[in-house]
Formats: sequence, structure tokens, C-alpha cells
Amino acid sequence: MIWLIDYNHYKKEIDSRLNKCKQDYFIVKSYKRFNIIGETAPVKTKTFSNGLLRLATILDANGICVRYMHYNMLEFALNNGEPLPETIAFSAVCPTVPLCAALAQRIKAVSPKTKVMIGGAHINVAAKETANRYPIFDKLVIGYEMDAAQQLTDKKLTVCPKPYVNYSLLPFSLADYAINTFTTMGCPFSCNYCVDGRAPHFFSSENGQLDEMVKLLPLRTLVHFFDSVLGYSRDGLKNVCKQIEATKHNFVLSCDMRADMIDLDAIYALESAGFVEIRLGMESSDSDLLKKNGRTLMYRKLMEKLELLYSKSKLYVTLYTITGLPGTTWEIQENTLKECDYLLSSGLVDEIKNSLYVPYPMEGVDYSTRGVTILNDNWEDYDRQSYPVYRTVELSSAELWEMYIKTAESINTSWLKSIGFSDFSEVPYNPTYYSEYIIPNYLKDEGE
Ligand code: SF4
Repeated sequence: MIWLIDYNHYKKEIDSRLNKCKQDYFIVKSYKRFNIIGETAPVKTKTFSNGLLRLATILDANGICVRYMHYNMLEFALNNGEPLPETIAFSAVCPTVPLCAALAQRIKAVSPKTKVMIGGAHINVAAKETANRYPIFDKLVIGYEMDAAQQLTDKKLTVCPKPYVNYSLLPFSLADYAINTFTTMGCPFSCNYCVDGRAPHFFSSENGQLDEMVKLLPLRTLVHFFDSVLGYSRDGLKNVCKQIEATKHNFVLSCDMRADMIDLDAIYALESAGFVEIRLGMESSDSDLLKKNGRTLMYRKLMEKLELLYSKSKLYVTLYTITGLPGTTWEIQENTLKECDYLLSSGLVDEIKNSLYVPYPMEGVDYSTRGVTILNDNWEDYDRQSYPVYRTVELSSAELWEMYIKTAESINTSWLKSIGFSDFSEVPYNPTYYSEYIIPNYLKDEGE
């Protein structure tokens, strides 16, 4: 028996100013999305990892006894002295690796013969450092899919199952989860602040398994496609959209996309497939800063595409921005915030999400050559809501934090103004929709 432990998501206490920003953000988001997109099935916050579920699906199809568990289910088993299996394998992201190591210690203390392994996005880019820091793991699983499944079992596996993932292996019904799916892994671009460009390129399912989901999920469920670029290429996008349309779903679809893939054909394909939202990376309005960070898509090109979307589509457009990229100065950030204000007030974009740059450990990357000094090497703090773990040539970590909070506040204020209110308390939002941060459930939980 193999237990696969999903430790890709977690909750933690966050700074009170940041928490207030997140609550204000979700008040406007709830109001705005309800007004533009309308009612949806209730939004869920429980999540699962498609990559780990794929491993469970492969093992199960090859006759290996497997159990998919969330980390708190493992904690429950340990707290209650349940018998442990032959193998326990974690899937982790950078900030949860130390938490998995602590659980591995507990496993070994009560069941020394249980093999404990770890894999996931972080391990694929920082295996050596993980092995050095955490020798408690018997094996690091590197790679994806069949490769990873074979490393887990030390066996040659012959069945490569379809559909891509078997939702019945999840511990809860699919309808209990927030739905994120994908059609292709990897990104054809390589911005140097992002790990997606380092992931291998492979296909999972041409319609993101919507054909399965239509049997399992209520009407108007929110389904997000997290492909780095939906369909990976222009042709891929058209094909994926056709396949999605053919499922005759009645979901509310969103996807991540590169603005330079957008043209009239792409807009037509997306809308015909049932997409109501696209999310595009902007990061900053400063071309030199973007170039310095390996991004080839500049703000001027993004603007052209936003104007096309505005005039030719009904798509709800969300932009991603990053605060604290190496090379950022207050002046650059102030200019970016002026552009954000313009984009929201003109209606060219409907929402802007801001996140903090994190210098994730990656083999072969020496951050000092990018003007970044690492100040804190505790991986638990390597996330987008903890105090910055670095400083740059231009800014101290305290200044980066201040810039991050001020950016969040400024975007919230611009957004509030764009919907015609002057105070967040005036917004008549409907708490049933998009309320994940309004109900302050983001604080560290004690397990479900
Ligand atoms: S930021 Fe976007 S375009 Fe750049 S590598 Fe990451 S996913 Fe690809």
C-alpha cells in the first residue's frame, strides 16, 4: 500500500495589514464578478493536486494499492496511532517541504520501516539542496507521470491510463473541491522569475477532462485552466477550445494566457468554448525591468491586446502583477500603479492580482548575479504572503514589504473607485460568491 500525501496547499497566519488588503480585495471581487459573470455554483476552497492524482491514477491502473490523502488526514492517522503503510510519498511545494520533513520524522519514529519519499514542483528544481537539508527522506522522486510512478514503486509499470486522472480516487467528491485543470504542462517562454519555463512539455487531456466533470459537477461550477498558456501554442489553443466546446459543458471557465497569443481567432475560439475570463501576465509596466527579468512581452504589446479584447470580446480580463522583481525602484512601481489605475478606471481590465516576488531555490540559479541577496533560508517563508526573504541592490526587505502592501492598497483603491464607491464598507457584495477572504478563513487552520 502507498499513501500519497498532498501537501501543496496550506494555510498560515498572515500579517494583519495584508489580511485587510485581501479582505478588501475580495469584497470588490465578489461584487464585480457577480455583476459581470453572474451567479455560479458555490465557490469551494478545498483543493487537490492534479499531478499527485495522476500518480494515484497510474498506480491504481497498474494494480497497486494506493490512497490519496490530504496532509491533515496523515496527521489524523499519526495522532490516532493508525497502522502506517509500506510507503508514504509527499507532494510538496517549497514552503511545505520543511513541514513534510517534520511529518517524516514522526512517521519514522513510529514506523521505521515505512519508506518516506517526496516529490513535486520544488523537488524537480531543487533536489540536491532538499536532500542535503532533509536526509530523513528515503528517496526524492524527480520527474512526472509514469517516470515518477516507477520511481515510487521501483517497478516497470506498463499501463498508462486514460482518462488522465480518476476523480474517484480523491478522498472527497469532486464537487467538494475548487476545480483547477489543465491540458498541457510547460511553457514555451522562459521568464526568469517563473519555474513554468523549466517544466517539461506534455499533454494531459485535450478538454481538461470537462467531459468527465459534466457528469460530476453542478451547473455553473467555476473551472480554471492553469496551463501556462492554454493549449501551449496558437494551433493548440484552437484545438483545445474545440474539444472543450464539444463537451457541451455548462461551467464558468477561466484560463491563464499570454497576451501575445490573443488575436481575433483566439477570442472567437475562447468565447465559443465557453470561457468567460482570461488571466494575463503584466508584471510591471516598465520595459527595462521586464527585459532584465527575461520577459519578452512588453507593456505596449499588452495594451494593444487589452484594447482588442475590450472592443471585440465580453471576456472578463484579469491581470497578474509582481511586486519586488530584481531592479524595481519606487519610481518604477509608482508608474506601474498609475497604469493600473488607468486600466481599471477605463475598464480595459476588470481585475488586477498582485503578488510578491519570491526567489525560489532553483539549481543552476545564482540569485546574486541578478542583484538579489537572500536573507532568510527558511523555506517555510518562501511564499507570497510572508515577509520578503531577500533584498535587492535597490531596496531593503523592509522597503520591499512596504512596497508590496502599498501596491495592494493602491490597486484596491483604484478598483473600488472604478465601481463607483469610496469605501469598502459601502460595497453591497453578496457573501455567497467569491467570499474566500471576506470570511476570514485564511488564517492558520487546525485541520479539516
Ligand atoms: S511568467 Fe508566464 S510566460 Fe513567463 S515563463 Fe511563466 S508562465 Fe511562461
